[in-house]
Amino acid sequence: MVEHRWAHKHLLSIADLSVEDLETVLAKADANFDEARKRPKKGDALRGRTVINVFFESSTRTRSSFEVAGKRLGADVVNISVSTSSVSKGETLLDTVKNLEVMRADAMVIRHQASGAPNFVAAHTRASILNAGDGMHEHPTQALLDALTIRRHFGTLSGLTVAICGDIVHSRVARSNAILLGKTGSKVRLCGPKTMMPREAQELGATTSVHTNLDEAVDGADVVMMLRIQNERVYGPVMASTREYSRTFGLNTRRLEGAKPGAIVMHPGPINRGVELDTRLADGARSVVLEQVEAGVAVRMAALDLCIAANKEIAVS
Ligand code: ASP
Repeated sequence: MVEHRWAHKHLLSIADLSVEDLETVLAKADANFDEARKRPKKGDALRGRTVINVFFESSTRTRSSFEVAGKRLGADVVNISVSTSSVSKGETLLDTVKNLEVMRADAMVIRHQASGAPNFVAAHTRASILNAGDGMHEHPTQALLDALTIRRHFGTLSGLTVAICGDIVHSRVARSNAILLGKTGSKVRLCGPKTMMPREAQELGATTSVHTNLDEAVDGADVVMMLRIQNERVYGPVMASTREYSRTFGLNTRRLEGAKPGAIVMHPGPINRGVELDTRLADGARSVVLEQVEAGVAVRMAALDLCIAANKEIAVS
């Protein structure tokens, strides 16, 4: 079999990736995952390379796992957070990036509140750009780590039913997952109150259905993925009260009984315990939340490695 060649120097969205690309990055990540469980040792695939994390929004898991991933591959990793950078003095995004480019950054990992910001940057730099979440648009490495977690549990990404529940309209995680799972042939059920559902929800992914009743969405599902209300992006009233929301759209043990017997519970974090997810479930046997985080390092190693290798503009001799 001819090995598929990864040709993307940037990772901007799941929408840009073919099924073969998904297979390539997930296979590499899967091997990283196994390797790390055996012996988390430092490799040298990115020795001499510089990865800069540029985060305009807060992050715990994504930023630290990109840092661990880069270091595990032998790269030098630098973290910039906006509150302590010159962006707080009025510097533009492009100026910031241009300055980092002349420091010979090979890759920049960008999280920004504006949808499309990483695409804009990618058009103006030689470095590889990896999108670490842009506004309400996409969060490609989150969808990849979710896919890796699901595949390790079920051995496949096709023929499954995945319920994604909560604040769909503001969630880049929901969008990236719906697109990915649609490409690999699983059914996606998006569920949430009408005020948190995008008008074009049905079009997100090839196999998506829309639900406003949580029990209906969970019924017979293999995977139930719960999402946090994205308060940082919510401008008007979207629910009567938090208590009302958790009663109607919060996942608890009783509700999970409607899912398949082997169903798993996922959450990208941070969890608002007791709001979208009951705390016993979050810590229970069906929860794979910490495995998702573990998969995050494996996926980000694969993504950095593949994108930098595909970037001819920064080739080292
Ligand atoms: N950490 C994820 C994101 O950055 C999910 C969330 O914040 O709720 O989109």
